[in-house]
Amino acid sequence: MVEKSPTLVRLMQQLQRIPYLASKNIYRVTGYILALDSDKAQQLCAAILDAKKNIVPCKRCFTWQDREGTCAYCDSPSRDQSIICVVETWHELMAIEKTGGYRGAYHVLGGALSPLDGIEPKDLHIEELIQRVDGTIREIIIATNQTPEGEATLAYVTTQLKKKSATLPEGAAPLTYMLTCLARGVPVGASLEYIDRVTIYKALDERRPL
Ligand SMILES: [Zn+2]
Repeated sequence: MVEKSPTLVRLMQQLQRIPYLASKNIYRVTGYILALDSDKAQQLCAAILDAKKNIVPCKRCFTWQDREGTCAYCDSPSRDQSIICVVETWHELMAIEKTGGYRGAYHVLGGALSPLDGIEPKDLHIEELIQRVDGTIREIIIATNQTPEGEATLAYVTTQLKKKSATLPEGAAPLTYMLTCLARGVPVGASLEYIDRVTIYKALDERRPL
């Protein structure tokens, strides 16, 4: 019985806190960790602690980067900085990257609006996106999930962007970017992370103006 070993209980309690680890996999993962030799277990713990210490969000697009390094998206000369793809989270950014079909910049909001869960505009990097948009931007793709929260976030971001365009200070260069969102094709209610790369690629390729 697991309860006979406080050490095992403690390990499993920690693993159960990982939100994406399905409960039916807890025993498998626990078994894997217990079977690791000491060196490998040390390497795993060291990698987690090292990542916690040295990985920080990019100040511009909020994806992860090395504290002492540069951003793989904002600082890459091979990426088109005049297109910004707005996503809810980093793992959705990675889902788009895996398609290999997008070479622009990103903006990670850090989640989606959800008043019931207490997630308001100030909790997301929406203001930073609005600040970031200037005359050099040609297109903004809002690639939030097609869930009620994602759709609400899309509507809010769109309103804020349009408000900025309408209230530019006198003499400022006009904002002339195209505002697009993902084409339907991504199933309603689905999270980008779990969709195959061809569907994501097609949805991105056939994005439509808002
Ligand atoms: Zn960046």
